Parts: sequence; structure tokens; C-alpha cells
Amino acid sequence: MTIAIRKPSLGSAATAFLAKPHKLLIDGKWVDAKSGETFPVEDPATEEVIAHVPAGDKADVDAAVAAARRAFESGPWSRILPGDRSRLVWRLGDLLEQHADEFAELEALDNGKPVTNARRDDVQGSINMFRYMAGWSTRLTGETIPVSSPGNWHVYTLREPVGVVGQIIPWNFPLMMAAWKLAPALAAGCTIVLKPAEQTPLTALRFGELIQEAGFPDGVVNIITGYGETAGAALANHPDVDKVAFTGSTEVGKLIVKAAAGNLKRVSLELGGKSPAIVFPDADIDRAISGTASAIFYNQGQCCTAGSRLFAHKSVYDRVVEGVSAEAGKIKIGHGLDPNVNLGPLVSKEQHNRVRGFLESGRKEGAEVVTGGNVPGNQGYFVEPTVLANTNRDMRVVREEIFGPVVCVQSFDDDDLEAVAKFANDTEYGLQASVWTRNLKVAHMMARKIRAGTICINNHNYGDPAWPFGGYKQSGWGREMGKEVMEHYTETKAIAALH
Ligand code: NAP
Ligand code: MG
Repeated sequence: MTIAIRKPSLGSAATAFLAKPHKLLIDGKWVDAKSGETFPVEDPATEEVIAHVPAGDKADVDAAVAAARRAFESGPWSRILPGDRSRLVWRLGDLLEQHADEFAELEALDNGKPVTNARRDDVQGSINMFRYMAGWSTRLTGETIPVSSPGNWHVYTLREPVGVVGQIIPWNFPLMMAAWKLAPALAAGCTIVLKPAEQTPLTALRFGELIQEAGFPDGVVNIITGYGETAGAALANHPDVDKVAFTGSTEVGKLIVKAAAGNLKRVSLELGGKSPAIVFPDADIDRAISGTASAIFYNQGQCCTAGSRLFAHKSVYDRVVEGVSAEAGKIKIGHGLDPNVNLGPLVSKEQHNRVRGFLESGRKEGAEVVTGGNVPGNQGYFVEPTVLANTNRDMRVVREEIFGPVVCVQSFDDDDLEAVAKFANDTEYGLQASVWTRNLKVAHMMARKIRAGTICINNHNYGDPAWPFGGYKQSGWGREMGKEVMEHYTETKAIAALH
């Protein structure tokens, strides 16, 4: 394992953005929090403060919701033609592409992730999301419905935007989560108050400038940086917000549901996971090894879909444990801005402590640390990619979402697919599973038997704007992306006319 923590070098655009004062975007204007409070933003690789952003709270959320309501009901946005909405959403993709390197650098600096991944996945994925969703603006059609009621009826449906939407996002893919939320809501014609995670507000704020440059009317998108307990809770509670879309922990997801009950706002939730990766003996084992290693180590393990429970058939178990550990050994750890680095720091001290706590708990419960398990260097929130073998269903490390580069390997010795699916399903989550095999029947039978929203065959952590994504069980409510996401952001109105 190589550790290379060196001072970042930032391009001029990202440097210029960092040097500016950061504000909230409310009703088309950049303003300070009404309280005047700010909080610091850290580089998780060096623990240095890189910016201060406003600590927006209820008062700012109230102003932003009022602006979003005005924009929805009476501004130019309320009269915009679908084709013009589409053009504006498409423009966001173009503008992001023009500033792609700057966004990748800001993301690497703020979140800690490798800049090459940020450019290839976070920024490109966001560009793709705006372009895909732009197409939906002109395709949100209702239906004419043949009814059996006597008389001369004309019955049809309209798809209308749900209204003012509150969007609360996490820190693991800060820009991409903003894109997943903003693109479909804008395509549907909603107006938005977005709250980025306190740990990673920078790319959302920079993106707010692109929203203005694209020409969205004032108040259509408002951005409030602030804490979850204040700004986030105010948004989830707000009586004039029609819908809240949330991505983050299952624990906070449950709070959102309670908060939404006040005005029965619509809720969609993208929550945690403890996704299984299952290697069958007939798999291409080399491919399964590199694929399952990247399933857990990618993004420092901070993916809701991370393949954190690795099941290997007993006949290939030793080879898989050895192979994944060898992959871990090849990983170069360091500052995310170093283009040669594959694994950056975790996002924050809090997450660092949390993951270290899990490593300690795994050891105490008898897991074998095959590789990793330590904290490299004496600065930044780094954790070595770690393989825990001989784990079992009762261990905390197997049951709970660690959200770090730590995989728990278990063997299975059953060839009955029902029994294998039972291991995979032995979790309160159901976000993703991967199946590694060359046998088509095994692949597709497992796909049916596993209770998860997304199944990957011979790959993991797949994503595409057209691929409906979301969770079974406690991994969430609803689907993002694909045509399914439009259900979140539209209401169906049914009209019956008697002629
Ligand atoms: P979190 O608290 O669920 O944060 C997600 C978002 O919710 C953030 O914007 C957060 O704001 C906001 N929030 C927090 N409390 C809120 C409340 N009472 N009302 C409304 N919004 C609220 O996640 P975390 O604490 O950063 O991470 C904890 C664990 O969550 C991780 O270790 C991981 O297991 C899981 N997680 C999952 C995902 C995922 O993609 N499924 C993403 C991130 C984390 P602040 O950031 O300002 O608190
Ligand atoms: Mg939090």
C-alpha cells in the first residue's frame, strides 16, 4: 500500500471560486444567512479549513420556500413551455461540461475523493443526468381513458409538476446527488430549495452560479447551506413544501418521514445499504476479484451501494480473499487532487471515528483482519482498504452500514440458490446486489430471488440516468432516474368531461 499525501495544486478557476465569499442563493440573489452565522469547510486530506459558508437556518429556509412558491405560481417559470424548460436543463449539462475540470477539483478537495474519479464519474455522470432528464420535459404526457360510465364522456389525465420541492443531499457524491435531484425536478417544472451536506457544500454553490448563467428565472432554484438539524429539519417540516426528496442515512430518513407528516408532503428516500456481492464457483474469478474489490474500495467505501458483504463459495473462498486483499495492497492512498491516487481520505473526522469504531468492533467480535485495518499517516481522515475474513451474520460489521473501505467476507457452501439468496437477503437493507457467475440461469434466478432495488450481474455500483435506482426494505422509498423518477415530481390530474 503506497501512501502519498502531498499538498494539492488547484487550477486557477477553482482557486478563484474558493477565494470568493460564499453565500446562499435565494430568489436569484446571493445573500448571507439572516443570522450572519457561517461554518468552516475542511479539506479532509489535510484537515485545513478551505472556506466558510453561511449557516442557513429556518429563517433562510422560509425565505427560500417563499421565493420558490412565487416562482412556481406566478413567475415566468409557471408559464414556460416544455421545450424551453428542456433547453434550460440541457444547458446545465453544457455549462457543467465547460467547467468540468474546475468542478472535479473542487469535489476532490471538498470530499477527498480522487480527482480522476470525480471528473470521470461525478462530473460526467452529472452532465449525463441533465442531458437525459432534459428530454423528459417534452414527454410528460397524460392519457385519454376509455370509461364505461353511460353518457358521452371525455376522460383524460394531465401530468403536472408537484410544486415546491425540498431536496436534502449527502456528502458522498455532492455534485452528482445535486444533479440527481435537480435535473428531474426542473424537467418536470417544479421549483426547488436544495440543502447540500454541511461537509461538502462547495460544488452545489458553484453550480448555483451555472443555474443563473443558464438563465433560470429567479427563485426556481434556491440553495441553502446549513446543518441538517436546523436547515434540513426546517425544510422537511415546512408547511408550504409539497415534496421532500432525501438521500442519506436510514436514521435521518425516518426523521424526514415524521417531519413530512405535518402537511403530508410527498416523500422519496434514498437510504443506506449493506449490499451483497456473491461469487459463484463458475465465475471468471479474476474479474470477480477486481470487481468486488472495487465494489467496496471505490469512493473510499462511501457508496450507499458499496459491496460491503462479500459472499464467496467455499471452493473459491481462499482465492477470493487473497485476491481482494492483493487488490487492496495495490491501491495508492493520498490526497484526492493527486491524479495518481486511487483512494482519498474519508469525508470527515466524524466518519473517521465511526469507521475506526467498526474496525475495533470487528476485531473484538473475532473477524480476521487479512489486510488493512489501520490508519495511515498522522494527518487527514485516511483508512486503509481493509479485508475482514471469517465474519458472520451476528457481527456488527456485517449488520450495520460502515460507509468506509471495509469488506466483510463470508463463505457459503450451499449450491441451492434459495439458500444463497437467504444469506444475501439477511439484512434490513435492499439497495443493490451483485452476482458473479458465467451461468445465465444462476444469474437471472438470483436476480429474482434477491430483495433489492438494483441487481448487477458481473459488475457492481452500476449507474446510468436511464436506470431506475432505489431500494427495497429500509433502503428507501421510490426510484430515482429512468422514467420512474418522474413519478416523484409530478401529480396525475384526472379530468372527466360530460358532453
Ligand atoms: P445524514 O445525517 O443522513 O445526512 C444526509 C443529509 O441529511 C445531510 O444534508 C444532512 O445535513 C441532512 N440531515 C441531517 N439531519 C437532518 C434532519 N434532522 N432533518 C433533515 N435533514 C437532516 O448522513 P451523515 O450523518 O452525514 O452520515 C451518517 C451515515 O449515513 C453514514 O455513515 C452512512 O452510513 C449514511 N449515509 C448514507 C448515504 C447514502 O447515500 N445512502 C449518504 C451519506 C451517508 P448535515 O450534513 O448538515 O447534517
Ligand atoms: Mg449528519
